[in-house]
Amino acid sequence: MRALSKTLEIIEESPLTGFDAKVKKMKQEGADIIALNVGQPDFEVPKSMRLAIKAVAEGAGNNFYTPVPGFPETRNALVKFHEQMYGAVYQAGDFVFTSGAKEAVALSIGTIIGSGDEAILIAPYWSTYKELIKFFGGKQVVVDTKKNSHMDIEKLKKAITNHTKAIIVNSPNNPSGAVYSKEELEMLVMIANENDLYIISDEIYNTIVFGVDYTSMADIKGSEERSIIINGFSKNASVTGYRLGYAVSKNQNIIKGIIKIKSNFSGNTNSFFQKIICEIADNRMDAIKYEIEEMRKEFELRKNYISSSLAALDFEHTAPEGSFYLWCKIPRNLKMNSKDFCSFMLKKGVALTPGIFFGKSYDGYIRISFASSMSNLHEAVKRIEKAVNSKET
Ligand code: PLP
Repeated sequence: MRALSKTLEIIEESPLTGFDAKVKKMKQEGADIIALNVGQPDFEVPKSMRLAIKAVAEGAGNNFYTPVPGFPETRNALVKFHEQMYGAVYQAGDFVFTSGAKEAVALSIGTIIGSGDEAILIAPYWSTYKELIKFFGGKQVVVDTKKNSHMDIEKLKKAITNHTKAIIVNSPNNPSGAVYSKEELEMLVMIANENDLYIISDEIYNTIVFGVDYTSMADIKGSEERSIIINGFSKNASVTGYRLGYAVSKNQNIIKGIIKIKSNFSGNTNSFFQKIICEIADNRMDAIKYEIEEMRKEFELRKNYISSSLAALDFEHTAPEGSFYLWCKIPRNLKMNSKDFCSFMLKKGVALTPGIFFGKSYDGYIRISFASSMSNLHEAVKRIEKAVNSKET
């Protein structure tokens, strides 16, 4: 048989979904594992969303193709969400409703990056960005952050070449939990303006922030024409499986590009769920805002617990400012790289994510998702403590 596409030789399967499939299989086969590797909230579907689903299900229809970027009323609903939840003012035509934020990231990268173009990734980074840049023929240029996982502006400036087209920024960050300050983002926009670069700002964790001010790219003057913001409902409403995401930009050429690619890929996003978003925006805005905040509060309790427990076990880290990940160093005395440590812990009943999945320089790190119940976290900490102590002696 002839070889399959060369693209398959260039890109890799997401290590995160690959590793998760392995953990799930082990659990199905009866292994007692606490899965702190997954990047998804563990909460029930919010009541306001369940009620919206019921209301939409009772009406007939919604079974035909929709306009590629979404029903006009869905795009209007997103305007309302942005105004009421994030205080950002957009027009309906600025939005494209997508199958999860992941599709919005893919379409945005495809709209900007082509053969020979470079995109800057701020590391540690979510691995999908890298694979998508390669998929569209581009090259990733990785810029490491400072020790506290905040941006190193000088390094960022040095990474720019004549081929650079975009900077991808993710705040709150997966995996580091860093929330970039307004000043950092202003610097980034200044650099983008000076070098005529686009900015893809992935803000999927923007409602999960702990005690620091959150700044969206939408708040930064001068970013309007060169930025795309990615967001959705997977993480804030705990509905990862529903695939509710979107891209928003004030640059209509970008939106046209995204629509052009999407029209040939998925055509449109699930019509039924588009209507659910409308239902919530029309009738349940306050309720969903309340429920999202309740989930954030629960994440904060878990963050406090996991951060202090792991610090007591000598896992050095900066306390997360947002998202639901603890990004920590593997204690040196264990003398293990990230994959070895995670394999070791998997045998001891806790699934963690190796730091190497988030960039070459991070083999000394692990990512712990605290999107798991407090009782799971208690048990996981016990198992980590026991495993680490057994290794030391
Ligand atoms: N962006 C980041 C930084 C993520 O961590 C994830 C999921 O883990 C996504 C985007 C994708 O979100 P969705 O599930 O809505 O596709």
